[in-house]
Amino acid sequence: MQEASELEIYVHIPFCVKKCAYCDFLSFPGTERTKEEYVAALLNEIKYRKNTEVTAKGLDGLFAVTSVFFGGGTPTVLRPGLLCEILRTLREEFILSEDAEITFECNPATASFEDLMRLRCAGFNRISIGLQSAVDEELKRIGRIHDHAIFLETYENAVKAGFENINVDIITALPEQKKEDVKKTLDSVLSLSPVPGHISAYSLILEPGTEFEKMDEAGLLFLPDEDSEREFHWMVIDTLERAGYRQYELSNLALPGYECRHNIGYWTGKQYLGFGLGASSYFGKARYAVTRSMKEYMDFFGSKKRTGEIPLSECEKLTDSDEMSEFMILGLRMTEGIEVREFFNRFSRNVFDVYKEPLHKHITEGLLECENGRVRFTKRGQDVANYCLADFV
Ligand code: SF4
Repeated sequence: MQEASELEIYVHIPFCVKKCAYCDFLSFPGTERTKEEYVAALLNEIKYRKNTEVTAKGLDGLFAVTSVFFGGGTPTVLRPGLLCEILRTLREEFILSEDAEITFECNPATASFEDLMRLRCAGFNRISIGLQSAVDEELKRIGRIHDHAIFLETYENAVKAGFENINVDIITALPEQKKEDVKKTLDSVLSLSPVPGHISAYSLILEPGTEFEKMDEAGLLFLPDEDSEREFHWMVIDTLERAGYRQYELSNLALPGYECRHNIGYWTGKQYLGFGLGASSYFGKARYAVTRSMKEYMDFFGSKKRTGEIPLSECEKLTDSDEMSEFMILGLRMTEGIEVREFFNRFSRNVFDVYKEPLHKHITEGLLECENGRVRFTKRGQDVANYCLADFV
């Protein structure tokens, strides 16, 4: 009998209490009724697409779901009952492995102890909490709805509710940020009890269409310069590494055994199905994403009968050359880099033949290094990762 392949599932909940000033994710506020109608449509989508993309293609039983990730938006703006219903439907439609990692994102001030208990009992076993900063003025400046005290309460509730696998998100390079602010946030995270197993630490990027972009155009946004951005980034990495975390990806650190299975799957090219507004999938040698228009989504999945093709915002059949490029771009984000032999096993080509020029150039420049059959970024290379990765497109 053929062994089941690993599959990951992402569920997008596009609602937030209010839009943060820096955020360009597909998220917006919604009424209780809109949220309930959205979940009803989402359940239809899961069942419909399971039939059309898996069962109808004779793929039933060939996949074991090893990770489910509820992201957003803010999944916890939904009543826990709705989140549990989505998870129940996924269990009915797919085979979830016994030890599947089941994560939900949660923003402080959107989940009570009882809510978290309910989610833990329903089988969610990993929680990702958006702290972003432990400095209240910074939280206000970036438009978050919580303060540091509320984060601490949510964290304590998550621990009490039985979550042992916790991620905390922090953001650096915030407007007007100083070294002391970064230190305060790091001190706060490291004084949590128990400390979180996983920390995501991204630098703020000024995104088009955000409140921050408008402020920037009006000369009202004071972001740290590039040198400070890098200084803060390395301050985070060095401090957390001294505390026992390992940087396993450019912006992610974990204590041993707490690396995020979902993200690793994404960076190492595992197949995944994304459900919900705008959610992307990588399945059957294609990348595609559900429509980003709520109206189109609700017209199709909210109605009783579905006819025609599901509304997509993008769909791309991947060639071998696309897949090789993704292997490099995603795999090099991991600090272990890519394995030369694995590239050959997947594509029957030698990576040094396919990417002769960029590899030669960046290894000579000291931005990439090759050791023990792997190619990875040097520390200096991590600072200019985007510049290097552009050469593998
Ligand atoms: S809570 Fe997260 S998804 Fe929602 S607006 Fe803020 S940054 Fe965006």
